[in-house]
Amino acid sequence: MFRKFILAFVLAALCAVASPCQTKLSPKWEELTAADFRDAIVQSKGVCMLPFGILEKHGPHLPLGTDLLNVRYATLHAAEREYAVVFPEYYFGQIFEAKHEPGTVAYSRELQLRLLQETTDEMARNGCKKVFIVNGHGGNESLIPYFAQSLLEKPHDYVVYAIIGERNRQGGPGKLSTGIDYHAGENETANTLVTHPELVHTDRAKQESGADQARIKLPEDVYTGIWWYARFPDHYSGDGSVARAALGEWNLDGWVMSIVEALRAIKADDTSLRLQNEFYEKSKHPLDTKQ
Ligand SMILES: [Zn+2]
Repeated sequence: MFRKFILAFVLAALCAVASPCQTKLSPKWEELTAADFRDAIVQSKGVCMLPFGILEKHGPHLPLGTDLLNVRYATLHAAEREYAVVFPEYYFGQIFEAKHEPGTVAYSRELQLRLLQETTDEMARNGCKKVFIVNGHGGNESLIPYFAQSLLEKPHDYVVYAIIGERNRQGGPGKLSTGIDYHAGENETANTLVTHPELVHTDRAKQESGADQARIKLPEDVYTGIWWYARFPDHYSGDGSVARAALGEWNLDGWVMSIVEALRAIKADDTSLRLQNEFYEKSKHPLDTKQ
């Protein structure tokens, strides 16, 4: 009896100084109870991740949700190392350039911005004062910085942070393909061989060409929206047939680590919100701003 009492006392003392005795909270927003959600926001220090995917063709051999599946894999693995709440599946981004392919879901420009705004507003209203967008889709690389910058339009009581790229990295196992590798090629196929091997049909990767067709001749610094279709009309860029999981492991380790490092820096950052508030205040009376 006495020994039992001592044991309980020691355990209680341990639990008071360390957290392993608490029930482990899921990072997934949709899996938490309302009461656990409150604890999760405290544990994550108000940092919530929004992994941002898309539904689009990925060559002849990868699933439509490749970007969503892979970004969620990286984000959830990062949350295991550095806790943060992870928002449910989000795939309402910019993908007009794949509207000619089956299975693409391309919401209007207005809805993309409005939905992102209302989503981050709702996250913040629920205590996510630091919203961290982790992008998994190349077509969002202009949308996300534009959205984040446009938050300066009027006051918000939260900060949006984002990692835009980081889906592959230099070094690691040598690549077997040598050409451009932008979409469903060796890198992305290798990543998906790690995250969802059962959904990869490597044997079909040669059914179409992922070569650059370079059909428009313009100087490099001239932009036109049809550039992607001009170069990669089958929504395939690179060669997925040579992909191996080892390259995917390398890419994903780097991606997960970059998210973990970002999470730690974001948790420690109090300057962004302070400067944002200072900016909003000054922007109400610009004539008083000293030159
Ligand atoms: Zn992709």
